[in-house]
Amino acid sequence: MKCKVYSAIVSIIALISLGFSIFTFSQFEKIKTTYENQLKEKDKEIERLKQEKLVLIEKIRFVEEKIKEANKILKRKGIEIKIPEPKGGIFIPAEKVKISDLYFESLEKSLKKFVKVMTDIPIGLPLKGVVTSKFGYRRDPINGKAAFHSGIDIKAYYKQPIRATANGKVIFSGWKRGYGKVVIIKHKYGFETVYAHLSMKRVGINKPVKAGDIIGLAGSTGRATGVHLHYEIKRYGRYINPLELLYLNKTNSF
Ligand SMILES: [Zn+2]
Repeated sequence: MKCKVYSAIVSIIALISLGFSIFTFSQFEKIKTTYENQLKEKDKEIERLKQEKLVLIEKIRFVEEKIKEANKILKRKGIEIKIPEPKGGIFIPAEKVKISDLYFESLEKSLKKFVKVMTDIPIGLPLKGVVTSKFGYRRDPINGKAAFHSGIDIKAYYKQPIRATANGKVIFSGWKRGYGKVVIIKHKYGFETVYAHLSMKRVGINKPVKAGDIIGLAGSTGRATGVHLHYEIKRYGRYINPLELLYLNKTNSF
């Protein structure tokens, strides 16, 4: 009798243990599945971030390429820029790109430097208008003889505002034979720009000017057949063709 009671107790205990085990196991399975799902989510997140990183690296490479390209174009034009570089150089191949603050800082510095250079060298036209006479040898519009034209002529309307094509300092503001009322600005990298036949000068000598500042108004003073701007660019004392600096993407150089 006693023996039966014992075996019944043992059986009950065994059943309870089994029940517990099954319960614990299923709980374990649940927790495991939860963690596995979470891991899968994390893996997905990592994959997404990896993709984002690749896209970012591509974008950085694009900016780097553009900086390199701009530097090449300027170099062809005889303008060399020292770009601030972090250790190891700025143009890092994609696989070695370390996205760090230092790296972005150097990219930002380079871009700022480029923007600065673009405003320091005379690029573009001093006014909106058609170029009516090009640089080089031509037939003189007044006496018909062959003559060297040291700049370009741009058609203008009377008193049309004339703007400095780069940052610089006024080194002449007055009357010059042939040129009439003229403003001459000295810029960085050996450049000088000349704005002639003005009806009015708006800047005095030694005045610092920024690219885009109005320096005078168009007219026909001096040796001019009509209202236009005679625009010249000199570099280290030598005349250069202003059109060369209008088309920076062209391979021609001065
Ligand atoms: Zn001219």
